[in-house]
Amino acid sequence: MSELSELILRRIRDVPDYPRPGVVFKDITPLLADHAAFGAVVDELAGMCEGIDKIVGIEARGFILAAPVAYRAGTGFVPVRKKGKLPAETLERSYDLEYGSAVVEVHRDAFEPGDRVLIVDDVLATGGTARATADLVREAGAEVVGAAVLMELAFLAGRDRLAGLDLRSLVIV
Ligand code: AMP
Repeated sequence: MSELSELILRRIRDVPDYPRPGVVFKDITPLLADHAAFGAVVDELAGMCEGIDKIVGIEARGFILAAPVAYRAGTGFVPVRKKGKLPAETLERSYDLEYGSAVVEVHRDAFEPGDRVLIVDDVLATGGTARATADLVREAGAEVVGAAVLMELAFLAGRDRLAGLDLRSLVIV
């Protein structure tokens, strides 16, 4: 395992039974509070951005990572938000959750045609959010080059829902 992966593992805190019993929440706030660790993660993700025009961050923790990566890599940043948060005309996608469903949105004019996009989020669990985001970005006229996450929860097999997408995980647990 790389030094960076070990650092990430040390700085992500497991919070059992949050937000509901049986879920182990991967809390990235200790990592964000560590300048060296946060910086190393941003640098690593920015290093994946060759040929990328826009970084898409998924609300909410994806924003925290994606915005500095976009700045560092010299690309634009585009937010994908939960329904009802973006002010201008949007495109939307709904996707299934364990109980019920959720909707993500992006501004209809967020991309130039053919923009090359990297999607960034903190944790990949079932892959539903990333899948919906990739579909949304394509519908908005951009090309999804790949997705990058800090941590992939392999036991939930989210990777399988992202078939055809170049998924980079800094840590797989
Ligand atoms: P999924 O759509 O199941 O892949 O869930 C991914 C989204 O939910 C990401 O935006 C994560 O921030 C969040 N998420 C899901 N499971 C966890 C977890 N165990 N710990 C922290 N965040 C999670």
